Amino acid sequence: MPEPAVRGREGFLTRTSPVISGVAVGLVFLFVSGVLLALITYFGIRQHERIAEDRLRGLAAAAAQLVDVDAHERLRAPADTGSPLYARTIDRLVEFHNMLPEIYWVYTKRILDGRLYYVLDTAASPRIRWARDKAQVSRVMDPVLDFDPNQEPDLLPTILSGRVHVDNRAYAWGKKNLRSVDAPLRDAGGNIVGMVALDVEEDTFTAEQRAFRLIVRVGALVCLGLSVLAGLITARLHGSLLEAIARFERESVTDALTGLGNRAYFNRALAAELAQARRAGAPFTLLVFDIDHFKRVNDDLGHPGGDEVLRRIGERLRAEVREGDLCCRIGGEEFALLMPGIGRQEGEAAFNRMNGAIRMPMLVEGAERVITISGGIATMSGNDIRPEEILRLADRALYEAKRSGRDRVVFAA
Ligand code: GH3
Ligand code: MG
Ligand code: MG
Repeated sequence: MPEPAVRGREGFLTRTSPVISGVAVGLVFLFVSGVLLALITYFGIRQHERIAEDRLRGLAAAAAQLVDVDAHERLRAPADTGSPLYARTIDRLVEFHNMLPEIYWVYTKRILDGRLYYVLDTAASPRIRWARDKAQVSRVMDPVLDFDPNQEPDLLPTILSGRVHVDNRAYAWGKKNLRSVDAPLRDAGGNIVGMVALDVEEDTFTAEQRAFRLIVRVGALVCLGLSVLAGLITARLHGSLLEAIARFERESVTDALTGLGNRAYFNRALAAELAQARRAGAPFTLLVFDIDHFKRVNDDLGHPGGDEVLRRIGERLRAEVREGDLCCRIGGEEFALLMPGIGRQEGEAAFNRMNGAIRMPMLVEGAERVITISGGIATMSGNDIRPEEILRLADRALYEAKRSGRDRVVFAA
């Protein structure tokens, strides 16, 4: 016989599979941690950018302090390139440049009629160590050819208003990406006459950002791992919860001693099977049976011995019950067999099968016992009959079987 089973009321937990709840929890975890990480990344990178920009501004402003602007103003022709005045004017910038390996170029520009011209270029100095590219050395008053006011519309206005200008976009120079920062140069009268430019390798500009991004990436992996873990744990917990629910449901309808359905299960199953048979227009037979002289068994073996006998009877019954029938222990040593689709005659055959199995000699506590049962059969066939009624009819027939000598079955009138 299959184990007794009921489906409890369907709830969210029982409708959803553990895989789905695991995936859902994992995704929620991933989403929340992803949003947090994205916010941290965004604000972290902005913060690093601001710090790096401030550093660049400071460097450019410091470089501007090192330029002797009056001498710078006197360098007016390409022929001045390399002149003693040129060499003197550039010296302090070269020293500054030599200290800072991350700076690619340091040069100054003059503003004339809204145009820009190179003046000093540290790469031109024989004393320079760090300047990366000597091939591009510019001479005094070379026009700044790649200066396009449309591409950098805020460069001149920023410089002319006396502020430091930081180029937000890096530009590619060979394999390098460079970013420029320009600080204004003022003459003795305080007029802005030019600017000092530092081109800095973006690598140094973004080193902290890259470290930060690496940390964020590791964080993302950790979040991903935790999300998977949360999903797995959820699925696992949900799975064991479903198992526990199923076990409770099974135990709530199973008789612990015999493994048959219990009284509660019998009540439910009887009502359901009767209704089903009525709808299908099929017959339904209920057999109720009781062990003969069980008090004697108890008297001889004691209550625990009696229990052992009941357990063995349960085993034999479970082996005998046919597919589609349900066997329950409905009282101390009283049982019921529900037989949907079965009529009187087959009901009687079922009783004989059960009685035949039970009466096989049973060795308990060293002595052989032959135990018999008496049964009552009530059948519903085409008529409408309520569960209490069919049970009462079968019970009355059982009483009749006892009264007329036991070890037999009686049909309800
Ligand atoms: P009858 O042939 O008339 O049925 O005689 P009987 O001795 O079996 O009488 P009855 O059915 O009225 O008594 C049932 C006895 O079964 C009474 C009770 O002590 C015993 N019994 C009921 N439930 C259990 C149980 O779970 N374990 C044990 N060991 N005994 C039980
Ligand atoms: Mg009894
Ligand atoms: Mg009895």
